[in-house]
Amino acid sequence: MRERIVAANWKMNMGIDSGFELVDNISKLLVKQPAENVTVIIAPSFISLFSIADMIFEGDSLKYAGQNCHYEQSGAYTGEISAEMIADTGAEYVIVGHSERRRNFGETNEMVGKKVAAALRAGLKPIVCCGETIEQRKAGKQSDAVKTQLTESLFSLSKEDFANVIIAYEPVWAIGTGENATPEQAQEMHGYIRGLINKKYAKKMAEATPIIYGGSCNAANAKSLFKLPDVDGGLIGGASLKAADFVAIVHSFPEE
Ligand code: PEP
Repeated sequence: MRERIVAANWKMNMGIDSGFELVDNISKLLVKQPAENVTVIIAPSFISLFSIADMIFEGDSLKYAGQNCHYEQSGAYTGEISAEMIADTGAEYVIVGHSERRRNFGETNEMVGKKVAAALRAGLKPIVCCGETIEQRKAGKQSDAVKTQLTESLFSLSKEDFANVIIAYEPVWAIGTGENATPEQAQEMHGYIRGLINKKYAKKMAEATPIIYGGSCNAANAKSLFKLPDVDGGLIGGASLKAADFVAIVHSFPEE
């Protein structure tokens, strides 16, 4: 069975105390109701990441991620954080190519590719975001848009490196809007992405790569998304800021 993953993207929310409290509450809920066979990842702000990633919470099974990294290891890049620095905190993952970074900070597919390489160099697993804009979807170009993103940022990796990649399909029009992709739309795109991996890296890799969904996924709609054959979990923004909602999403997979 493929790995099931639910990752919380806190974005620029939660301070040190509130972040600590949120992780503590999530941990306590997961002790009461363990998440069997689900990898649960928290991506806090860098400030909170440093203060919580090496803490041990009750019954700790949580993993941690950076929300972004620079592609250089060190140097004159004021305000940036390298993948190695993220790994230093005890984090094991990093989100790369989130649409908010592409839109607000001009990240190109080429830069995303360099960040993926940096993450792998530092021993982190990159959670690589892709997804079409509303204009691309209205023009029926969603598959082309995602294919270009993946080809230009991921498909020159070796098989060994690609085996450490997690893909997050996040239609831009669904992020933070309350309008999630329908199960049909999500399955169509996840199946398409898996097909691209099959063509590039063969069936075994396609079957093993986790592809998670992001975009207004919440406790009310997660079950209908997580039961889809090619959806292996979710990248959760807004709904990850409340412990009970996030843990409900973690428990939204069908019985094995
Ligand atoms: C995200 O930021 O990756 C995301 C999916 O946000 P939201 O769940 O709020 O749409």
